[in-house]
Amino acid sequence: MIGALSQLSVNWSPTAPLSAARAPKSEPKITPDGVELSLPAIDPEPLPQVSMKIDLEQFRVKPGEDIDLTRISTAPPEGVPTSKADSERLLEAMHKKISELQRRLFSENQRSVLFVCQGMDASGKGGTFKDVFAPLMLKTEEGIERASFNVPTKLEADHDFLWRITGEMPRKGNIGMFDRGHYEDIVEVRVANLAPEEVWSARYDQVKDFEKQRGDLGTKMVKIFLHIGKDEQKLRLEERRDTPHKQYKFNAGDVARREQWDEYQEAYSDVLTRTSTEQAPWYVVPADDKEARNLIIASILLKTLQEMDPQYPKLPDDLARLQIQ
Ligand code: ATP
Ligand code: MG
Repeated sequence: MIGALSQLSVNWSPTAPLSAARAPKSEPKITPDGVELSLPAIDPEPLPQVSMKIDLEQFRVKPGEDIDLTRISTAPPEGVPTSKADSERLLEAMHKKISELQRRLFSENQRSVLFVCQGMDASGKGGTFKDVFAPLMLKTEEGIERASFNVPTKLEADHDFLWRITGEMPRKGNIGMFDRGHYEDIVEVRVANLAPEEVWSARYDQVKDFEKQRGDLGTKMVKIFLHIGKDEQKLRLEERRDTPHKQYKFNAGDVARREQWDEYQEAYSDVLTRTSTEQAPWYVVPADDKEARNLIIASILLKTLQEMDPQYPKLPDDLARLQIQ
C-alpha cells in the first residue's frame, strides 16, 4: 500500500451531480412575516470533464534534504486546474473519498491524524481549515478538530514549550489541524529574538523526539509549510486592509513581520531541513493559488489516510448474535 498513492488522479464525469460551483446563487429574503426564497431553474447542460494529476513526492521534504525556500516555487504546479469552478468539483470528489476513510478512522477509535500547518502571515492557514478540513466535519458531523496557537499566555509561558501542544493533540479517531504550532517556538523565537540561540536551536531535536513519541503512540503527524511569495502576501494584506469584511484580520504585526521576510524564509528553511522525518514528514505546498493549495493538501490527507488503512471494528460475537424483539 505504501507508495501506491504517491500519484493521485481524480476524474469528474460529466454526469456527476450538481456541484456547489454550479449551484444558483439567490438569497433568502427576510420579511416581517417570515422568509422567502426562490431559486432559478438550473441549466441542464452537462458539465465538461475535468481532471487533475498530482505527484506529491515533489512537495515532500526527504529526511536530511537541504531546503532553501527562496529556490522553491510558490506557483501552482502542472496538472492542477486553477479555475475555481473546476477545482471545487475536484475537491468535492476528494472530500467524498476522504470522508469514507475518516469514518473508518473514527469508528476504529485507535489512532489519530494531525496536520501541523505553518506559514507566513496570510499564507492561508485559516483558509486551509475552512476549505479542506471543515467540509469533512459537515459530511461526518464529528471527528475534526482545530487548534490555533497565538503568542503564549502567562500560563503557557510558565510551562515548557510543548505543554500547550500536548494539550491540543487530537483525540483517538480524529483528524486535527494545527494553525501554527510548536514550530513557532523555533522560528518566531529565533527571528524575533525572544530567547538565546541555545534555547531555540535545542528545539530541533526536541520536536523530533516529541513527534516520534507521539507517532509511536498513534498520532500520524504531517507538517505543511504553506509557501507564498512576498508579492502575493502584499496583495493579501492589502486586500485585508481594504475590504470591510476582512479588516478584522488586518494587524500591524503582520506588516512589521514582513520587513523580516528573508530572516523568516531562512529560519523556515532550516526547520524544513532539520525536522522532516519519514514518520512525520514536511510538505512544502505552493500556496499562491488557493484552489491548487486546497487540492494538494486534500491529496496529502487522502494519501495519509489510505496508507493508514483504517478498518471498521468487527462487532463482538455476543453483540452480533443479539436478538432484537
Ligand atoms: P494570519 O496568518 O491570518 O496573519 P495568524 O496565524 O498570524 O493569522 P494571529 O492571531 O494574528 O494569527 O497571530 C498569531 C501570532 O502568534 C503570530 O504572529 C505568531 O508568530 C505568534 N505566536 C504563535 N506562537 C508563538 C510562540 N510560541 N512564541 C511567540 N509568538 C508566537
Ligand atoms: Mg498574523
